[in-house]
Amino acid sequence: MTTIQAPRGTRDILPQDQVLWEHLVDFCKLRANQFGYLPITIPTFEETGLFERSIGESTDILEKELFIVSNRNSAESDRYALRPEATAGIVRAFVEHGLHTLPQPVKLYNILNNFRYERPQKGRYRELWQFDLEIIGEKSPLADCWCILTGYQLFQSLGLTEVELQLNSLGLLEERTEFLSALRDYLEPRKDQLSEDSKRRLDSNPLRILDSKDPQDQALLKDAPKLLDFFGPVSQSHFEQVKKTLDLWKIPYHLNPHLVRGLDYYCHTTFEWYLPGEGGSQSALGGGGRYDGLLPQLNGPDLGAVGQALGLDRIFNALDAKGYKLAHTNNPELFLIPADEAGLQHILQILPELTWLTNPRVDWSFEKVGVGNLLKKALKLEAEAVLIIGSAEIEKGKYQLKWLQTGEQEEVTLDELKAKF
Ligand code: AMP
Repeated sequence: MTTIQAPRGTRDILPQDQVLWEHLVDFCKLRANQFGYLPITIPTFEETGLFERSIGESTDILEKELFIVSNRNSAESDRYALRPEATAGIVRAFVEHGLHTLPQPVKLYNILNNFRYERPQKGRYRELWQFDLEIIGEKSPLADCWCILTGYQLFQSLGLTEVELQLNSLGLLEERTEFLSALRDYLEPRKDQLSEDSKRRLDSNPLRILDSKDPQDQALLKDAPKLLDFFGPVSQSHFEQVKKTLDLWKIPYHLNPHLVRGLDYYCHTTFEWYLPGEGGSQSALGGGGRYDGLLPQLNGPDLGAVGQALGLDRIFNALDAKGYKLAHTNNPELFLIPADEAGLQHILQILPELTWLTNPRVDWSFEKVGVGNLLKKALKLEAEAVLIIGSAEIEKGKYQLKWLQTGEQEEVTLDELKAKF
């Protein structure tokens, strides 16, 4: 019989990694809460049409990476798909439940696993975890800055101070349309020199050629028309306000005119978080931008929206590579050792009281296998202290408490014991 392993591109997060993983998740929740975001849970799968309308049919995610969910007995074989990202589901929920009636903007977040049929490699998984933050119902550039500040402070407070912010603006749709026509005019006569992907995109989604990783494409783009030159006063002032505020907040950024999102409903600010020194797109720890057109696209009101998705797997890997180790948090603070049968019976009596709501974190031996053996076990578990209970202690009404790091020993009543933790 062959052994079944985890599917390619998925991974188990084992107990020894959970300490860091949980810490990261808790940390994200804490930051989200401090910035006023409320949690929202959305379905793991949605109508495929939602992703076609929100992510766009001529994107890698839709063309190659969607996991279709079907039932063996159903005729609708591609009606549903696993969510490849959270924004589409969040905006769908916002529209469906009329969240525009709440005080605006509505700030929402979630920490969820998403699914993309990518070619797996380090930092690129088919089941990927993202911390997603959205500010819906606000068109001010200051909302873009608020969103960026959340990400910036998260990286700073996690100690990933080297993470770089790359920033761009996509302006408005009309400006992009004019720019794209100029870009096409420039690239068409040079089509032969483009990579296969970019050749294809010249017709379907030429904006995406700008973020091609192919060196020859990049070289060709050096002298191509620049989107910023097509901006009118609204786009110029939106971008200026973002940069001015980031300067005020001392958030460093690199302007990257090739940072694009290829769909019509994106506008103005777009940004990515990068870990410097590593090549390729796997070093992106997150990204986001403004998507004012998505709500109307999903039959919602014309409200502004900006958001970002941070890649938890990659942030986890970056912290792990830095030796970001946290103390074990499951070691017992108090390990109970029965010295004899009466001791074991007594432990059974006091356990519920000892574990009631407050500290200490208790572990105990289910059987009496000798005080020496149990002491060894307590040391292995990195217990902070042991409590030895036998007939003599029960008679006295005082237990022996031994602190394992210092070797100090004292006699305590149950109340005195509880007061120590
Ligand atoms: P995106 O939703 O594609 O804008 O990605 C946002 C962030 O999620 C990226 O910057 C990565 O950190 C992370 N990410 C995207 N795709 C993957 C993947 N296949 N595996 C792991 N992390 C990913």
